[in-house]
Amino acid sequence: MTEFLRRGGSLRIRNGLIFDGVSEVLHERDLVIIDGIIQPDGAEAPADVPDWDACGGLVTPGFIDAHLHAYALSLDLIRNETTQLSYIAHVARRRLGSALRRGFTTVRDVAGGDAGRHRAIAEGLFTAPRYFYSGPALSQSGGHGDPVRADETLCFHSGPGLEIVDGVDALRVAARERLRGGASVIKVMASGGVISPTDPLRIPQYSHDELAVVVEEATRRGVYVAAHAYSPAAIQHALAAGVRSIEHGNLMDAATAQLMADAGAYLVPTLAAYDAMSRLGEQVGLTSVGLAKNAEVLEQGRVAIALAAERGVRVGFGSDLMGELETEQLAGLRLQHDVSGTLALLRSLTSVNADLVQDDRLGRIRPGAAADVLVFDGNPFDDPTLLWREDRRPRVVLDGVPVLAS
Ligand code: ZN
Ligand code: ZN
Repeated sequence: MTEFLRRGGSLRIRNGLIFDGVSEVLHERDLVIIDGIIQPDGAEAPADVPDWDACGGLVTPGFIDAHLHAYALSLDLIRNETTQLSYIAHVARRRLGSALRRGFTTVRDVAGGDAGRHRAIAEGLFTAPRYFYSGPALSQSGGHGDPVRADETLCFHSGPGLEIVDGVDALRVAARERLRGGASVIKVMASGGVISPTDPLRIPQYSHDELAVVVEEATRRGVYVAAHAYSPAAIQHALAAGVRSIEHGNLMDAATAQLMADAGAYLVPTLAAYDAMSRLGEQVGLTSVGLAKNAEVLEQGRVAIALAAERGVRVGFGSDLMGELETEQLAGLRLQHDVSGTLALLRSLTSVNADLVQDDRLGRIRPGAAADVLVFDGNPFDDPTLLWREDRRPRVVLDGVPVLAS
């Protein structure tokens, strides 16, 4: 289990309407937090504990973004992978801080992160969401993680967010290296992608044996594999190898959704990314190849969520925003709300994503849980725009400590 520093603040939140992360029944009651832990209903807070009046507003578990790229400076993969890590670390710090202030108290970084970054956060060198990471995402040569264009001679092997690894034996080593570095998930590129220059969107990537060896190493360690995949063929290819977390999944069909449900796999939709790239991609440097690929997956992303939910697939939430598009994180809530509605979206953001990252301290308001909590100025069940409006962000509590808005 990923360990986090216990800052352990104490707080009493009065007059809140509690959404526990799962139940559609909301409870009007006070919430008492002692040393960063949510206390049983009716617990007394010591007199010196700070006191907040929620004024009847909704109190929810802190949100979890299960597909974030803290290291993605831009939509230019070469630039991202060749910029010095000293600079990237500062950009990542800013991006993580922004996510926290929007209400994301936990993120899962699926192309980057290392034990040093996790340690810096755990030691309180800067304030950031709880940070789960995969280390560099694994890609085959010419796959979604390969930034080299067809007519270039550049020799690219690895960077902070991506690594090209081919072959079963090399992938076994790469998986073990990530596990040594504290990765709680291993990320593989299992189909073409929007911003990669040479790969068709729909074609599965990696052989079965290559994917299966990564799953074998991860599973033995008690972690799991997340696969970037769009098409039914690519999703089925990933599921057959034992992948647990399907990232994007936009081109999914009904039969594939059923296979996901049968396998107990999660879908992590990332609608914000395609919406933002369609509106802003050209001005932030997305190539014409990328724009054409993006158009193909944009509309189908909504359909995929509906198909998955109908068949009982657990649907999480991710943003997947790179470069300047990072500011569109909250738009993802609006887009997923259009398909799922308030209750399902809130579950995706809290308990479903917590189960996905395999940490039962997160994503629920219940006794003993970590006190990552949002206090809304109103009730998003009455006014869902409160979930995504920049000017109405909730008060954010991380491990029992209020996060300042500035
Ligand atoms: Zn992806
Ligand atoms: Zn991504």
